[in-house]
Amino acid sequence: MLEPFVSAVPVLKKLEEAGFEAYFVGGAVRDFLLKNPINDVDIATSATPNEVKKTFPKTVDIGIDHGTILVLFQNKSYEITTFRTESEYQDFRRPKGVSFVRSLNEDLQRRDFTMNAIAMDRFGKLIDPFNGQFAIQERMIRTVGQATERFQEDALRMMRAVRFVSQLGFELERETVKALDHLVPLLAHIAIERKRAEFEKLLKGKNRKQALNLLIETGLFSYLPGLSNHKEHLEELKNYDFDTLSKDEMWTLLIFCLNLEEKSIEGFLRNWRLPLKEIRNIQRILLFLFKRLKQEWTVYDLYLAGSDTIKSVETLFQVLKGNKEFESIFRWVNLYKQLPIKERSDMKVTGNDLLAWFDSKGGPWLHEMLTKIEQAILEGKAVNDNNKIKEWLMECNQK
Ligand code: ATP
Ligand code: MG
Repeated sequence: MLEPFVSAVPVLKKLEEAGFEAYFVGGAVRDFLLKNPINDVDIATSATPNEVKKTFPKTVDIGIDHGTILVLFQNKSYEITTFRTESEYQDFRRPKGVSFVRSLNEDLQRRDFTMNAIAMDRFGKLIDPFNGQFAIQERMIRTVGQATERFQEDALRMMRAVRFVSQLGFELERETVKALDHLVPLLAHIAIERKRAEFEKLLKGKNRKQALNLLIETGLFSYLPGLSNHKEHLEELKNYDFDTLSKDEMWTLLIFCLNLEEKSIEGFLRNWRLPLKEIRNIQRILLFLFKRLKQEWTVYDLYLAGSDTIKSVETLFQVLKGNKEFESIFRWVNLYKQLPIKERSDMKVTGNDLLAWFDSKGGPWLHEMLTKIEQAILEGKAVNDNNKIKEWLMECNQK
């Protein structure tokens, strides 16, 4: 067995010693069988959340209603979820309540795809009642049970199917595609935050071209915020190779392809329920990206943008141009690093100095003059030193 399973084996052992069953489940087992890098290991157990809490001294209730407890063990954290079934589905969404059960098989049965319904015990033995290993060998995404039924229970599973296509490059089984074709409208019932999480993973996936094709062919894109009128633009998104992009850069590229008017960008991102901080960052990247597409950076724009935005803009610039000249990113960032000032507070002159030197009252002129000095310092016309700035201003005045 490999890491991160090895470190987690004592967690399973502890639960077993307390009289419960415990297994590795879900994405980690799938990725292990695929020999892909493994993210977090999820653990499923017959112990109820309270029993889990009694077994480990350090726990956090992160989703106790759904049976999930976070266990802190030897400086690592593990999500431990009680075996459960989800019988009462409402409005095509995940269930309102869950019932805890003592049987692993019942727990595996409620899972979405056969490749995600494999459990592994602490000795590495697989429990695979739905033949998920075969699906993995065939590279096939197949629902546990009937696709139509499972998608009607929770419509998000349709989006998960497509994001797994993107991440894994698997194909969708025929029944699954057929079910998708007529059930996508049910996605209208799904919380946007859940759709966003899947959409972001979809965009990040290596096989996004294939996944975007599916989004378009099945009409799924129409049930995602702000995308229904943008079929052609989504087609365009397929042309770009954006493996290197961060999440915010990915959203920026999407907006760029959608060709949204400036005034609708914020609304579009808000409709996706993106956090305000991310929205502001995306808007900032877009602002400088549009300038960059027209001309090279000016010193003043480098200064206004700052190194993180410069990096994002340049990365996107390369992606849009289909270039791989990533050294140019460092060239611009280095230029930024050499600027004599990085922000206004670095200037060796204040508004009060100006008021005293010119013996005048405050007003809009003050801001204008500070901006003028700032630009002069950046362009090397003035030196960032209180006396020198004063001299420079007097010279300018005489001219
Ligand atoms: P990732 O590597 O992206 O985390 P994952 O398969 O672990 O992929 P998660 O969203 O972390 O995906 O979910 C963990 C497991 O929970 C899945 O493998 C699957 O067994 C189950 N699961 C998650 N969402 C659903 C759902 N909507 N319906 C049924 N089972 C689900
Ligand atoms: Mg996971």
